[in-house]
Amino acid sequence: MTFTLQNIISNIEVKFNTPFEDFSVENISIDSRSLQNNQGTLFFALQGNNHDAHQYIEGLITKGVNNFIVERIPENLKDKAHFFVVDDSLKALQKTAIYYRNQFDFPFIGITGSNGKTIVKEWLNFLLSQDYTIVRSPKSYNSQVGVPLSVFGCNENHNLGIFEAGISTTNEMQKLQRIIQPKIGIFTHLGKAHDEGFSSEIEKIEEKIKLFSASEIVILQKNDLIESLLKTKTLTWSFTDKNATVFAEKISTENGFSIFDIHYNSDTFTIKIPFIDEASVSNSMSCICTLLYLDYEPKIIAERIENLYPLELRLQVKKGINNCSLIDDSYSSEYQSLKLALDFLEQQKLHQKKTVILSDIFQSGLPLNELYEKVTKLIQNNKIDRVITIGDTIGSYLKDIQNVISFTSTQEFLQQFNLNSFENETILVKGARSFNFEEIVVILEEKNHETVLEVNLDAISYNLNFYKSKLQPATKVMVMVKAFGYGNGGYEIAKLLEHHKVDYLGVAFADEGIELRKAGITIPIMVLNPENSSFNAMIAYDLEPEIYSITGLNAFLKIAQRRNISSYPIHLKIDTGMHRLGFEPNEFERLKAIIKNNNFIHIRSVFTHLAASDDLDLKNFTLNQISLFSDAYEKVTSVLNHKPIRHILNTSGIFNYTSYQMEMVRLGIGLYGVGNSSEESKKLLNVSTLKSIVSQIHIIKKGESVGYSRKFIASRQTKVATIPIGYADGIRRLWGNEKGYVMINNEKAVIIGNICMDMLMVDVTEISCSPGDKVIIFGDKPSVIEIAEMSFTIPYEVFVGISQRVKRVFYKN
Ligand SMILES: *Cc1c(COP(=O)(O)O)cnc(C)c1O
Repeated sequence: MTFTLQNIISNIEVKFNTPFEDFSVENISIDSRSLQNNQGTLFFALQGNNHDAHQYIEGLITKGVNNFIVERIPENLKDKAHFFVVDDSLKALQKTAIYYRNQFDFPFIGITGSNGKTIVKEWLNFLLSQDYTIVRSPKSYNSQVGVPLSVFGCNENHNLGIFEAGISTTNEMQKLQRIIQPKIGIFTHLGKAHDEGFSSEIEKIEEKIKLFSASEIVILQKNDLIESLLKTKTLTWSFTDKNATVFAEKISTENGFSIFDIHYNSDTFTIKIPFIDEASVSNSMSCICTLLYLDYEPKIIAERIENLYPLELRLQVKKGINNCSLIDDSYSSEYQSLKLALDFLEQQKLHQKKTVILSDIFQSGLPLNELYEKVTKLIQNNKIDRVITIGDTIGSYLKDIQNVISFTSTQEFLQQFNLNSFENETILVKGARSFNFEEIVVILEEKNHETVLEVNLDAISYNLNFYKSKLQPATKVMVMVKAFGYGNGGYEIAKLLEHHKVDYLGVAFADEGIELRKAGITIPIMVLNPENSSFNAMIAYDLEPEIYSITGLNAFLKIAQRRNISSYPIHLKIDTGMHRLGFEPNEFERLKAIIKNNNFIHIRSVFTHLAASDDLDLKNFTLNQISLFSDAYEKVTSVLNHKPIRHILNTSGIFNYTSYQMEMVRLGIGLYGVGNSSEESKKLLNVSTLKSIVSQIHIIKKGESVGYSRKFIASRQTKVATIPIGYADGIRRLWGNEKGYVMINNEKAVIIGNICMDMLMVDVTEISCSPGDKVIIFGDKPSVIEIAEMSFTIPYEVFVGISQRVKRVFYKN
């Protein structure tokens, strides 16, 4: 289904439009960076606290975009494209979505709740797809922007929609309700997420259930409070309450299955749920109830539920063989999610060369020729160098693309294709679950041991936006990515920051900057400790030195003169009390004499570093530093014809001394999810999770010991698990001998005995676990902050101590 501008123009209350020419909308976009923007695009210029898409309109026009919904027309562009001015572009996007949604009269299922929305959506899709042509939200597209974008995936061949809705504060759900208009509602779980957005539990529930205001039925776990607030008919389920519509009576747990007798309408049947953890079993119950409501036979429900599978919902970036990087999206293949994956590929690509391995696409609702015509266009717009198709149909439809290689099955590809021919490229692996593309990923992935540091790119974006929300829109942001992004990762994080259009990156040494340039990072980079010997390399790689002494300045000038360089950007560091690096007041006159009318260099910024921005007891010291800085700035720049950027605030500076943000700030540890006070940390999301597995389990008798020097002696029969991570990986020995713990299956397992170089042992006497089970060393719990406190250090040291042999995996939801 396409629609034209004429169709929506009255709905979105356009105040003003440049000469009107109707056009047929093929693509709705809000992201200026997507390569999918073209003539068929209607672009909504959204404006938020931290971004304003209006500033990218000019660039979009050169890419061929011609129609814009805007809040104001950028100067000079009035005649260059068609503009439709509205009060609020987000509202206009939502109203367009409502218009579009109303073109369809098939039923929608709407899912909300604190956890489990995406899982329940994906499982319902799996359970129902034999009988329906389903359209659903891609990934976790459930926000004020995500929901409208999702419904544009509907077309006339679909006959069921499954959409999720997520909110974080009041006055949001009603808007999503109008777009989804669910006939069947599912409330998955009420938890603690977003509690800060609501004044009370009741307020939160009342907001969430607005999704169901016009639903025919709401499916939920029996809950008197929620039921008393709902005005809709309900279908409830419970493990304990026989009065629920569906009473699930637990019979047993065996081999990873939970077996229940389901009592429904005086009928009883047995069901095997292939999970034992509570969250998965509850999510399965939401699905069972939905199928019951849709009148499925118990026998069919039981058959299909038994085949449910754990879901990998994340897009993961992994290091591949032969210096490739892999984007692993090996569990889904719909047109909508292909669009998202291609955008992510563009954002994260480390190499110019881009390859896509793609399976047949199912369930698009479109005739195959139409579907693959769209896929062809998408691949061409994204400038993919090589496409490998796997499946019975896709190969014959993508003929128009240059450089396509086709295979009928994953096995055939693995047997016939020379995998070593992958080299220095970024490879997106995207396929429907039935193609088992994880087998391809396993082979293309660089081999590693089981310990990984998982880095959540969404959490980084969230934390960045938190600090940006404290700043004026014009304040620039430099993000410190020194020491391999505080141990979390180098170019992958830098790519994300570039995508978010931060203004500067900061590194400690020239080498670190060179690595980023080699990976294709183009935004300005400041080097904090430029050694005189590295100035030539820095110039070659367009890196900007911090200059902190007369000697350094002269050394740099000598090279600049010899190479006849002009206006090279440099940054002057002033020492105001940290006494680490920087010019001191007695050097200001010499400094002024050198920089005055000096055309070899251009002083881009002048800055200082606070010694105690995290400690409000030292506020006077900090304010004195700030005042010394202001004096120094006036003096030193008095000889210049321009005003360099000023910056002094690091993470805790942004938090505690916001009003001194000047023209730029330097964000560090906060980006990685750690604040310098618990109040600050609470506002951030955890970024890194250090994970390993259980290698072996021993049962030892009372009196026996564990590890070197027999530091642990069992006082009872003890079950001991060995984890393959030790002090060579950065786990400090201080954390051993019952001081620290790890999490196994959501339970605390205390570290016993001395930590070894490559291993440590934990007490799992009370924990049900087996070799191969996942172990969390740090993450949400225990947090890096907790580990740092217990081992008498700071989170910075814990992060950068994680050794490089621990593989980093980056993911995005
Ligand atoms: C590391 C560093 C920062 C960032 O500090 P955080 O406390 O991590 O925010 C800022 N400025 C300079 C000069 C730094 O060396």
